[in-house]
Amino acid sequence: MEERMDEFRERREHMVGELVTQGLLKSEKIVKAFLDVPRHFFTGEENERFAYADYPMPIPSGQTISAPHMVAAMTELLEPKAMDRVLEIGAGSGYQAAILSRLVKKIYTIEIDERLAAFARSNLRKAGAKNVEVMAGDGSKGYPKAKPYDKIIVTCATPEIFDSWVRQLKTGGLLIAPVGSGFYQELIRIKKAKKGLEKTNFGGCAFVPLRR
Ligand code: SAH
Repeated sequence: MEERMDEFRERREHMVGELVTQGLLKSEKIVKAFLDVPRHFFTGEENERFAYADYPMPIPSGQTISAPHMVAAMTELLEPKAMDRVLEIGAGSGYQAAILSRLVKKIYTIEIDERLAAFARSNLRKAGAKNVEVMAGDGSKGYPKAKPYDKIIVTCATPEIFDSWVRQLKTGGLLIAPVGSGFYQELIRIKKAKKGLEKTNFGGCAFVPLRR
């Protein structure tokens, strides 16, 4: 068992090294979060041997755990701060939330598929992430109960940035989302400034669609 742990650790260090070389992982604290979170706890046991390759992977209910480089890019773009309260739309495996749990104060993550909400909860427990709350429900309306949020991260392809998300974001807050209705989307970051929304496009990406 211990030997296998070391093997996973080695593979994880290799994966993180690659992401740093490619310039996708930049901040020291985010690098540390990637080293600390065992991705093989989030892939399901049948796929754990592939957990440290830089690919998206199937998880239950026909959904996917995003590729490590996408989680790295989105985490960097979210500029996580120790006191942040974050809302995630699309818990999936729980891996993105587990990474953020090392970097911010609290994460609320909402998942439309109840079976996946349970999968995420159990994976997060295994990884020892205590500051993550997984809710089953439709995230297209956000999660008003715990608003306002410093950051919102959408991890399913959304046809638009819904007003409810923007309303639940603090002034000065950041929202990141794959926006588009086709197979490919654009990775968009919105800053909710005092004067209005500042939008930046970070290029193409491919996520599973938001469902209702
Ligand atoms: N962040 C995840 C990847 C999620 S894949 C991870 O780290 O593993 C996208 C997820 O969004 C899927 O699990 C899908 O079921 C979920 N989803 C789709 N539409 C949704 C909605 N309206 N509200 C909440 N979750 C949704």
